[in-house]
Amino acid sequence: MSKATETILEINLAHLTHNYNYLKSKLKPGVKILSVVKASGYGSDASVIAKHLEKIGTDYFAVAYASEGVILREAGIKTPILVLHPQPVNFQKIVEYQLEPSLYSSRTLKAFITTLAANNQKDYPVHIKFNSGLNRIGFGENDIDHIIDQLSKTDTVNVVSLLSHLAASEDHTEREFTIAQINMFKKTAENLINTLGYTPILHQSNTSGILNYPEAHFDMVRTGIGLYGYGNEAKYDTQLKPVASLKSVISQIHSLEPGASLGYNRAFIASSYTKTATIPIGHADGISRQYGNQKGFVTINNKRAYILGNVCMDMIMVDITDIDCHEGDEVIIFDAESNAVKVAEHSGTISYELLTAISPRVKRLVIDDN
Ligand SMILES: *Cc1c(COP(=O)(O)O)cnc(C)c1O
Repeated sequence: MSKATETILEINLAHLTHNYNYLKSKLKPGVKILSVVKASGYGSDASVIAKHLEKIGTDYFAVAYASEGVILREAGIKTPILVLHPQPVNFQKIVEYQLEPSLYSSRTLKAFITTLAANNQKDYPVHIKFNSGLNRIGFGENDIDHIIDQLSKTDTVNVVSLLSHLAASEDHTEREFTIAQINMFKKTAENLINTLGYTPILHQSNTSGILNYPEAHFDMVRTGIGLYGYGNEAKYDTQLKPVASLKSVISQIHSLEPGASLGYNRAFIASSYTKTATIPIGHADGISRQYGNQKGFVTINNKRAYILGNVCMDMIMVDITDIDCHEGDEVIIFDAESNAVKVAEHSGTISYELLTAISPRVKRLVIDDN
C-alpha cells in the first residue's frame, strides 16, 4: 500500500467482506442480515459500502433518515432500505424512492397511511418499531389495539417487520435488563401477530446483540459497527478488521525552545525543548477539540505522538520530540493496528463518534483487493 501524501480515509472492502462473514458465522442459517449504513456508512462512504454489501448478499439496508436512503437509491442500490427514524415531512420522498419507514408512533403511522393513500399505494412495505426499554422511539406494549385499529381500516400498508432496539447489549452488567427487553419484545410481537393474521420479520439485535445474545437474533439482525470492524469488546475486536483507516502527512516540523507557546490561545507552553509536527487535519475534518491538549494522539513511525495545545480548524500539532521522523512522512490517525477504539477511549469518547465525525472534506480512497 502506498504511503499517504495528504489526508485520506482508506476504505478496505476486503475487511468489510471479512467482517460480514464473521458476523454471519454467528447466526443460525436463515437469519437475515440487515446492514446499517447510516451516517455515511459510519463515516466512510455509504454508497461504496452498500454496493459492496449488496454484491456479497446482504438482505436489507438501514439508514437513519430519508435523505440517506435517497443517496443509496441514486447510487443504484436495489436492496430494500429501512429508514429507522423518518420524519413525516419526508414521507412523500420515502414513497418516491421506494424506501421503507420504521413507524414508531400513532402520529407517524397515521401520517404515513395518509401519504400512501394520496399516492394510491397498496401493500406498501412498512416496519413497526416497539420501545422495549431504550425509551427513545417506538410504540409501547399498550399500543397494540391502536395499531391494529389503524391497520384494519386501510389496505395501503404491508407490515414487513416488527423491530425493537437494545439499550445495553454490549454491557455484561446489564444482562438482566437486556433479557427483559428481549422478553418484552417477544411478547409484544406475539400479541400483534395474533391479531395481524400474518407473520412479519422480527428483529431486535444490533452488533453487540448478535455477539452476546443469540436468543435475540429472531429472523433478522441489524449490524452497523461490527461491519466496520469494531465489536465493542476486545475479544471481538481481535476477530474483526477495521474497514476505515485515516491517514495524513507531516506538513512541517518546528522546534520549540523552553517557554515557547504553540497554537491558538497559547494552550501549550513548552517546559523543555520540544519538537512538533504540524498535520493537515483539524476539527473541520472531524478531529474534534476534545482530542486536543494531549488527550488524542496520532501514530508516526509506530510511535504515539500526542496532540499538543488546541485542535485548529484545519491542523493539529503533535509532539515528536522522541520520534525520528521527517517532513512528508506518513501519519496514522487510526488504522487496523492503532484503531479507532484506542484513540477514542484515550480521549473519553467511543469509536462510533470518532468514525462518524470524519467530514466530507477528507478524500476517500477505496481499496478493493478482491
Ligand atoms: C445504529 C443502529 C443499529 C446499529 O447498531 P450497531 O451497534 O452499530 O451495530 C441498529 N439498530 C438501530 C435501531 C440503530 O439505530
